[in-house]
Amino acid sequence: KYLQEYSERKRLYNEVIELKGNIRVFCRCRPINQVEVTNGCTSVVEFDPSQENELHIISSDSSKKQFKFDHVFGPQDGQEAVFAQTKPIVTSVLDGYNVCIFAYGQTGTGKTFTMEGTPENRGVNYRTLEELFRISGERSNFMTYEIYVSMLEVYNEKIRDLFVENSNQPPKRLEIKQAADGTQEVPGLVEARVYGTEEVWELLKSGSRVRSVGSTNANELSSRSHCLLRVAVKGQKTKSHLWLVDLAGSERVGKIEVEGERLKESQFINKSLSALGDVISALASKTSHIPYRNSKLTHLLQSSLGGDCKTLMFVQISPSTADLGETLCSLNFASRVRGVESAPARKQADVTELLKYKQMAEKLKHDEKDTK
Ligand code: ADP
Ligand code: MG
Repeated sequence: KYLQEYSERKRLYNEVIELKGNIRVFCRCRPINQVEVTNGCTSVVEFDPSQENELHIISSDSSKKQFKFDHVFGPQDGQEAVFAQTKPIVTSVLDGYNVCIFAYGQTGTGKTFTMEGTPENRGVNYRTLEELFRISGERSNFMTYEIYVSMLEVYNEKIRDLFVENSNQPPKRLEIKQAADGTQEVPGLVEARVYGTEEVWELLKSGSRVRSVGSTNANELSSRSHCLLRVAVKGQKTKSHLWLVDLAGSERVGKIEVEGERLKESQFINKSLSALGDVISALASKTSHIPYRNSKLTHLLQSSLGGDCKTLMFVQISPSTADLGETLCSLNFASRVRGVESAPARKQADVTELLKYKQMAEKLKHDEKDTK
């Protein structure tokens, strides 16, 4: 009887989460840097400390434009604060959910800082694995999880494996295949089983190194390719994927630069970023046709986008006056992706019902503690 009650409450709890929707957009604005200060740039972004989910952009004619997201992080918000909001989403992979997290924005706005971070300021990727190990340790009396990581790069619509045993080898080309159950798989993709945090940091670093092999300027190349970290969690009955994606820079390339190889690159980037935007906004507006096949990126992530999968996009912005144009482009893209205008019905959730569920959810949490 207890079990029945438990699963019923768990179902209601999940419904509460469902009412909030499966697509979130967080905005993160990096601090203004020394070069910008030296060049006389100031900040165009205004935050209201009492509103954690909105920001204002002050245009050159000093008019203000308001944007709302699920959460807004300002220059003072560190990796810790960002991860506190991200944690519930990433850890739901342990409960069988597929999850995708993206960092979107112009080059230099902190996509890699948010996802990878620095040795002193580790980002979402590392913190996620740390948290997964922690929870799986806590649950080890009644659950066993196996955790595997893979790392790959999509550049000019070609996929390559970043975990090659020997980095002198040329990177392997990979293809997407449809499995018998309809999900997407990548035959031959290296999956490294991981047991603890120490090895994870080293592994992630080695993947990043492979990524920059053969390029004269690592930062240049990384701004034109998508880097994907896949965390596969295998439980007794479940197998779920969490994708952590550092996207290519969203900036429009100047007319003069655009020729030859650069032209091809920027066309591929535009194509895949707009395909991603189209897929997420189609999901947010509950359209029946979701155009996954329009790019390698969305095709690869097909089984982890939509349905009851969870999606989080970080839209990264620069505060500088010099980047105003790109900042507005990114914020408009993210607003479209969030599909706020097109999904009004869901916002009308019955408050008393919600409160009832919230109480149940709290009791559930309490009971879960008791059973331990
Ligand atoms: P992107 O990957 O979008 O091109 P980076 O992550 O490389 O951008 O960030 C550009 C620079 O700004 C890096 O030196 C990075 O350390 C710094 N930076 C970005 N975001 C922050 C932040 N929130 N706090 C401190 N430094 C940041
Ligand atoms: Mg980067």
